[in-house]
Amino acid sequence: MTATPSPSPTAKRVLLAAPRGYCAGVDRAVIAVEKALEQYGSPIYVRHEIVHNKYVVQTLERKGAIFVEETAEVPEGSIVMFSAHGVAPTVHAEAAERGLATIDATCPLVTKVHKEAVRFAQDDYDILLIGHEGHEEVIGTSGEAPDHITLVDGPEDVENVEVRDDSKVVWLSQTTLSVDETMETVDRLKEKFPQLISPPSDDICYATQNRQIAVKQMGGQADLVIVVGSKNSSNSVRLVEVALGAGARDAHLVDFAEEIDEAWLEGVSTVGVTSGASVPDVLVEGVLEWLSTRGFEDVELVKAAEESITFSLPKELRRDLRAEAAALGSAE
Ligand code: SF4
Repeated sequence: MTATPSPSPTAKRVLLAAPRGYCAGVDRAVIAVEKALEQYGSPIYVRHEIVHNKYVVQTLERKGAIFVEETAEVPEGSIVMFSAHGVAPTVHAEAAERGLATIDATCPLVTKVHKEAVRFAQDDYDILLIGHEGHEEVIGTSGEAPDHITLVDGPEDVENVEVRDDSKVVWLSQTTLSVDETMETVDRLKEKFPQLISPPSDDICYATQNRQIAVKQMGGQADLVIVVGSKNSSNSVRLVEVALGAGARDAHLVDFAEEIDEAWLEGVSTVGVTSGASVPDVLVEGVLEWLSTRGFEDVELVKAAEESITFSLPKELRRDLRAEAAALGSAE
């Protein structure tokens, strides 16, 4: 990778976003499945895609993970892992009823939103959860306090929102939304409910925000932005929208380099490249290689933030790994 001086108008170059790709929650969830396979053997059942990325899911399937839609599909007595997006308490209860051993790989930043929901529901607030209808994270968070939570799916949805007492209303959000669109929704909610209170800290996570900031920085200079990510990955889809909003002439989401259409490069001299929080960098390298064979060899980093956050493995796994290490130690 080489830093390049400002290009002539016809020079071909790539602007590569940083940060991009794996966030701490995804990294932890993927390692959790790998460690669980090593520790307990195959199969490990995973409820829903552990993270929303086709390549990651296929790779883990080859190693012995079995992905299911519902806990009811998991044979009694097996191990089931819950994905990074989080689950409702009813899912934990169902797993317990079926005698399943569970490993909860919910991202700690999603768990934080669950806890906020529980706390505001206990204080009898109406909770306006800004998020996308049907998204797994929204289903999980809503399940923490179904009688108190109303989903608000974007600014247009605000006119439909009703509350019991407009002096006791709080908004929370899904972690992977567009920051700008969410603030527009909040502004409209505040017009309707002036006493609306905000979450104690940002619900849109650091990784989502940083990836959007980097894309904004490159968007105005790019003729084309390629976002590596899967179609069901909320934060990846948002990056395409943010790129277009920031002034990119064109932007597309691809799972793999092979999905790039040669026609997108017509008249293009600057290509922005980034990836969603569930995307391993090997897929971005594939895209850079594809571009370099078409003359886009100069790669300039657009750095928006440093990230150093890491999360420890799910507690059930840590407990069993510790127990095994202790047993091995005493056997020596
Ligand atoms: S995108 Fe944010 S909330 Fe989602 S897994 Fe990553 S760090 Fe956690």
